[in-house]
Amino acid sequence: MFDYQHQSDWQIISGQEQSPVALDSKTAQSVKWPAPDFATLRGTDSDRSTYTITIAGTGNDVLDGRPATFQQLHFHSQGEHVIDGVRAPLEAHFVHQYADGGLAVVAVPFVVGAANPTFGEVLTAVATGELAYPIKLAALLPKQTDWLHYRGSLTTPPVQEGVAWYVATQPLTVSVQQLAMYQEYFPADNHRALQDLNGRPVLKLESK
Ligand SMILES: [Zn+2]
Repeated sequence: MFDYQHQSDWQIISGQEQSPVALDSKTAQSVKWPAPDFATLRGTDSDRSTYTITIAGTGNDVLDGRPATFQQLHFHSQGEHVIDGVRAPLEAHFVHQYADGGLAVVAVPFVVGAANPTFGEVLTAVATGELAYPIKLAALLPKQTDWLHYRGSLTTPPVQEGVAWYVATQPLTVSVQQLAMYQEYFPADNHRALQDLNGRPVLKLESK
């Protein structure tokens, strides 16, 4: 078992393309791409650990022209990526697998604002230990946003590399009560420390 208080002890396979990183949307190279459609994503099964709730699910989307299958969703609080100097209090990670076996993670920062009803369903799953029915996940993903894209790693041991990251520049919101409830369920901070970009290119994917 790993813990976030002793990250220097984590077993690490490789080292130069790690996540999370600080991202700067102003210096990222802009590229047009078709906006992904997350309408089919469903959460079907939940599993609560010390650090987060993981919601396994189904659904397909297309990320950067490549078909991908949604696998699971989990959360980090505080957020892991720093976007234009800002660390969000909550960050959702939608883990995907490409047809060739490679992994992609769609990351969405959440800040305090209006309540998100779908996040309310997630909190209910934490409280009850189960999903009463498949949760439509699209409301946890922004419709109008640019995405920052880079090659990185998983952010929990063994932090394997070769992961395609898509980080939303536009945060969504949860209410102050929802965030407080989440942090009451998961009081231990589970964000990995920032890693060096080591000159990796960062693209800003703008919707056509
Ligand atoms: Zn994660």
